[in-house]
Amino acid sequence: MTVVELLNPATGTGIGTVPLASVDEADAAIERAAVAYESWRRVAPADRGRLLRRFAERIDAHREELAELEVRNSGHPIGNARWEAGNAADVVGYFAAAPERLCGRQIPVAGGVDVTFHEPLGVVGVIVPWNFPMPIASWGFAPALAAGNTVVLKPAELTPSTAVRLGELALDAGLPEHVFTVLPGAGPVVGRRFVTHPAVRKVCFTGSTRVGKQVMAGCADQVKRVTLELGGKSANIVFADADVAEAAAGAPMSFCDNTGQDCCARTRILVQRPVYEEFLAALEPALRGVRVGDPADPDTQVGPLVSAVQRDRVESYVDGAEVLLRADAPDGPGFWYPPTVLAGRSTQDRAWREEIFGPVASVLPFDDEADAVALANDTAYGLAGSIWTRDVGRALRVARGVRAGNLSVNSHSSVRYSTPFGGFGESGLGRELGPDALAGFTETKNVFLADT
Ligand code: NAD
Repeated sequence: MTVVELLNPATGTGIGTVPLASVDEADAAIERAAVAYESWRRVAPADRGRLLRRFAERIDAHREELAELEVRNSGHPIGNARWEAGNAADVVGYFAAAPERLCGRQIPVAGGVDVTFHEPLGVVGVIVPWNFPMPIASWGFAPALAAGNTVVLKPAELTPSTAVRLGELALDAGLPEHVFTVLPGAGPVVGRRFVTHPAVRKVCFTGSTRVGKQVMAGCADQVKRVTLELGGKSANIVFADADVAEAAAGAPMSFCDNTGQDCCARTRILVQRPVYEEFLAALEPALRGVRVGDPADPDTQVGPLVSAVQRDRVESYVDGAEVLLRADAPDGPGFWYPPTVLAGRSTQDRAWREEIFGPVASVLPFDDEADAVALANDTAYGLAGSIWTRDVGRALRVARGVRAGNLSVNSHSSVRYSTPFGGFGESGLGRELGPDALAGFTETKNVFLADT
């Protein structure tokens, strides 16, 4: 049996091991989920909703325990980890209302009655990255289950602890066996099997654009449904008419939250030239004020990176770049990295173009609105972005002009469980959360009944 050793990122010490499933075990889990689907899809909508509500209540009741698990396994600050567990509970609660609202339509046609149904797909394979283990898992499994699918969830190798616990809580809540299976495993083994196994009707993948492309190509073979939530390189655009002090005060946590391991991180800071120096002067104390340290301390804002590999990767982007500003971080042991702002010397720089996934942003001046939009759009990604201005017309024009799925004005907020989330371009395909999410977990069937 292959096992993975889990490390506490704050100390670098082992916290236990988790077995990784083989291909045979993945096949067995998928096949049991396929059998369970035949009953789950027939559970009365109100009962499916009731079970999901109980599951949400169980998550909420175990919020502190789940948060502490995440602190140990992922190094997330306890305040963040509590939010993450709460978000998973909210997401399951939100989609618990869906089974009874999944209405089709009756469309007027000649010669009979035409009705549409939104039918579940079957087994859905959910593949999750290590950066937000609980929320991202719930964004996939909750709407999938609500729509009547069964789910096999593969957490990331580095961070399976909370997912395993969520699987136990689902059973506690009364979800029938094999309706929701959590299967820790290696990506190229279990994740890959979701792509190739014919009983998996959809793969809901969150992770890197590199692996997302492989998943999409693999799914093409069976024309398998796929949702992709991939990388990002989001812009934070500060116009001269903005409240510059407020924009600068908020900027550090827009790319340091979750130690920058956030697909929505605003890592390309664009500042209109007349306020460029003023912005940098205000950014410096804000960056130095970020509290990096012990994740168990409720005052901590930023913890360690997830692994030594990730720390080395982040350093490879900073090495040789021009560091404008830097905060403090603890020395080892543990996988620490200081919040850092680089001079965006060229839009061709690797640090400007590629997703770093650490607490590192680059800053560049721009001249006018058209320049800001062109710079923001000069990327293969298109996940999120912020626009700071007091001019409502400009806010609207720029928000419409930037090719990204989630924009915020005078704010860095990207995620609410009741609103759609997803990317343009190489940031992904499909939408999670909000009212649009269910469409991704159903097929529309049209039935015509002749009146003769
Ligand atoms: P990753 O792509 O390396 O891994 C993601 C998941 O895919 C893991 O569970 C991994 O085991 C699995 N996997 C690996 N190889 C596979 C294969 N061949 N077939 C199927 N599955 C495979 O990503 P990561 O390093 O864990 O996470 C970081 C990335 O996730 C970043 O690029 C980040 O932007 C992205 N992300 C995107 C969103 C979003 O909603 N857009 C949210 C969070 C993270």
